[in-house]
Amino acid sequence: MDRLLVVGAGPKAMAVAAKAHVLRELGLPAPQVTVVEPHAVGGNWLPSGGWTDGRHRLGTSPEKDVGFPYHSTWSRGNSHAIDRAMMAFSWTSFQVERGTYAEWVDRGRPHPQHHVWAKYLQWVAKKSGVELVRGSVRTISGAADGWLVSVVDGDGSATEIATDRLMITGPGQSGRALADHPKVLSIAKFWDLVARRRLPVSSRAAVIGGGETAGSAMDELVRHDVLTVSVISPGATIYTRGESYFENAMYSDPAKWRALSLQERRDVVRRTDRGVFSVRVQESLLGDSRVHHLQGRVVRVAGQGEGVALTLRNEQRSDRVHAFDLVVDATGGEPLWFLEMFDADAADRVELALGGPITMDRLEASIGHDLAVSGLDAKLYLPNLAGLAQGPGFPNLSCLGELSDRVLASGPSSARAAMRSTTTAAAS
Ligand SMILES: Cc1cc2nc3c(=O)[nH]c(=O)nc-3n(C[C@H](O)[C@H](O)[C@H](O)COP(=O)(O)OP(=O)(O)OC[C@H]3O[C@@H](n4cnc5c(N)ncnc54)[C@H](O)[C@@H]3O)c2cc1C
Repeated sequence: MDRLLVVGAGPKAMAVAAKAHVLRELGLPAPQVTVVEPHAVGGNWLPSGGWTDGRHRLGTSPEKDVGFPYHSTWSRGNSHAIDRAMMAFSWTSFQVERGTYAEWVDRGRPHPQHHVWAKYLQWVAKKSGVELVRGSVRTISGAADGWLVSVVDGDGSATEIATDRLMITGPGQSGRALADHPKVLSIAKFWDLVARRRLPVSSRAAVIGGGETAGSAMDELVRHDVLTVSVISPGATIYTRGESYFENAMYSDPAKWRALSLQERRDVVRRTDRGVFSVRVQESLLGDSRVHHLQGRVVRVAGQGEGVALTLRNEQRSDRVHAFDLVVDATGGEPLWFLEMFDADAADRVELALGGPITMDRLEASIGHDLAVSGLDAKLYLPNLAGLAQGPGFPNLSCLGELSDRVLASGPSSARAAMRSTTTAAAS
């Protein structure tokens, strides 16, 4: 049977699990989906994942759920049936089943706290009956027929799982900090201290980074007793994601994306995604006179008395040094974090498909319509790197229904499928 293994039980895994369940129910082909996760379903939306304390709110609407935009392109004749069946996995159905739908509407459809979003994802997991393997993926090797994935559980025992196709999700670990200094916190350390109410008292705090990770950290810091909170990012300003119809439509429906030039695509991503706080985060921060923006890249971190001095570099000016007594490194995950798991042979296969050493640019450019690396015999789906080539909504929560269509419609590579059918025919 065609098997798809997903690394990480976040929204992308649940979108694929729900769609595979629906396809099977409708008598359509779908792989057996296995999801490997060390924490819990929705782990990165809970304090244990190290990216949030779970109490901050989702930036996007929860109606952008695992089926959104409910415009299946999987198979023309079955699209409506698929969309109808996917509605059973919607955020609205979740609210109805919990008995909280009317209250949610009457309260003005608030964006849920991250831990409630995790509960929604756990509900999807249960309803879809997806196979969950508790553990961390440690190594990925190439196999004759796909990939061999080694999973280590909490007790340290390892299991090997063979899979035809592999999908990597999530931003990796959150424990990395710009410098090893007690006043420079990784995002995991920051949320851990917040949860334990042990965040050091500070008068001049800084958050490095301009995305949702930084936004949530700022949102938390302004609730504490600080004199100033500076957000540091290379851009001239922190943009607000406008949430206008035109911007949102680009994220929900990537159909027009391929017609844009590379420069236009980069421009859209820069203006709407990178260095951008959601409208909700901006609303709570802009009215606060303690919040400032400092432009620049941090090129040096040095201890200074009880605090730290950060050197900020801008192309047009000389370096400037700013002193803080607390710094949060919220620059986000390392996009290529998953390469650490690839053994030499698996990495060679990817290099061969890319036609050169593995780089971010090459990988981004290689992502095909099915969100997999083009030219690889065994499918390797990297939706988090699909933004530039396929659409800005694929790395985030903007079009999870379209993401699952693209992944599931592609099947194992046609060459291998053909080989299999020849083998089956010869055997019978
Ligand atoms: C604080 C914060 C707020 C955000 N808010 C929004 C928002 O409102 N809207 C939006 O569109 N995007 C938001 N994002 C971006 C968000 O991360 C992505 O949109 C989305 O969560 C990615 O989903 P995912 O399924 O790829 O991964 P995740 O939800 O990040 O899940 C990845 C999973 O992989 C697991 N994992 C890690 N390593 C391994 C391993 N070795 N083996 C097995 N499992 C592993 C983790 O435990 C985790 O559960 C936010 C990000 C952050 C950090």
